[in-house]
Amino acid sequence: MYSIDDFAELKLQELEKKSLRRRLASTARRDRGTTERDGKSLISFCCNDYLGLSKHPQVKKDAIDALSNYGVGAGASRLVTGNHPLYESLERGLAEIKSTEAATVFGSGYLSNLGIIPSFMGSNDLCIGDELCHSSLHAGMQSSRAKVQLFRHNDMENCKSILTSLRGSYEKCLLITEGVFSMDGDRAPLLNLCNLADEFDSWLFVDDAHGFGVLGNGAGSAAEAGVGSRVDLQMGTLSKSVGSYGGFLCGSQPVCNLAVNRARTLIYETGLPPASVAASLASLKLIKNDSGLVSRPLKKARYFTNQLSLPEAQSAIVPLILGQPKDTLAASAQLMEEGFLVTPIRPPTVPAGTSRLRFTFCADQPDEDIEMLIQCIRKLGIAG
Ligand SMILES: *Cc1c(COP(=O)(O)O)cnc(C)c1O
Repeated sequence: MYSIDDFAELKLQELEKKSLRRRLASTARRDRGTTERDGKSLISFCCNDYLGLSKHPQVKKDAIDALSNYGVGAGASRLVTGNHPLYESLERGLAEIKSTEAATVFGSGYLSNLGIIPSFMGSNDLCIGDELCHSSLHAGMQSSRAKVQLFRHNDMENCKSILTSLRGSYEKCLLITEGVFSMDGDRAPLLNLCNLADEFDSWLFVDDAHGFGVLGNGAGSAAEAGVGSRVDLQMGTLSKSVGSYGGFLCGSQPVCNLAVNRARTLIYETGLPPASVAASLASLKLIKNDSGLVSRPLKKARYFTNQLSLPEAQSAIVPLILGQPKDTLAASAQLMEEGFLVTPIRPPTVPAGTSRLRFTFCADQPDEDIEMLIQCIRKLGIAG
């Protein structure tokens, strides 16, 4: 047998050859989209802090107060002694903004998906997910041991034909999608999915990592689509528009209670740092009360797509698909030379042949910076 170092080197060389090797770069995010990397100041268009709340004075203050009151760490899992009092307020706040009966907070969005799906689905059941679902949803489906079938992205005919042929052979069925797709920025047809779920006696799970705080006046994609009360499992993250860290499930009281009893990622994991929970709570108040703030990322994204004659943005995320990893790396490098940070997205994050630049727009990004980015993209001829 060869050594583990040789194995690692070989795998890395393979990735390098395909332009798929990834490297961590030390990156300091400053105010209003400014970012420092390698001593260079760059204007970033690749951050998920859509509302700039990770740096909001009130959010920081509440985090510091919580740190002083409760210490740095939770000290135990939530079911032991890690359930500090801030959790209850946060869960009440989440349920309120989502108009659900209850909410359960998890350690992260990834851990939410990994814990929730197996809490409800098992080996006699069927999970039908959009093919572009986030890695954490695939992980959740796999670990549930249910039969997993993917449908073509946002293709309701394809979803229906899978339901028609398979639904009858399984006990329970869960349809799984994202409110806003993380690498494409488009929205799922939630009304159609609700109708399909009803027609085929199935439940619906929506991961709204990128819709919460941005669409539906802050309440997210389901609210925007007018189906908030029809989505059984509404998942989101506290790490994007909320600017903090953690994940959540909103749903009925029995649903949330069962998640607490069955989700291994909640039961066997230390609670969130109190400061993170306090920060989320402060952000939530701002999201609830400042509709101007909440509407800004989409407005900025739409200005960008209109100016460059791209399909109109449906969220804060705008992809520019270039195809091959090599071309995508080159375009990103060119933009970096001009002072812009736009990360290249390559397989396996996106399907082969669809490598892309992914732009995200945040509320606190100066319009002048977006204008400069547009000029630069035109000059470089990147947008076709
Ligand atoms: C970011 C993301 C997650 C994971 O959330 P974290 O809080 O970062 O772990 C889950 N689903 C989707 C669609 C995401 O974009």
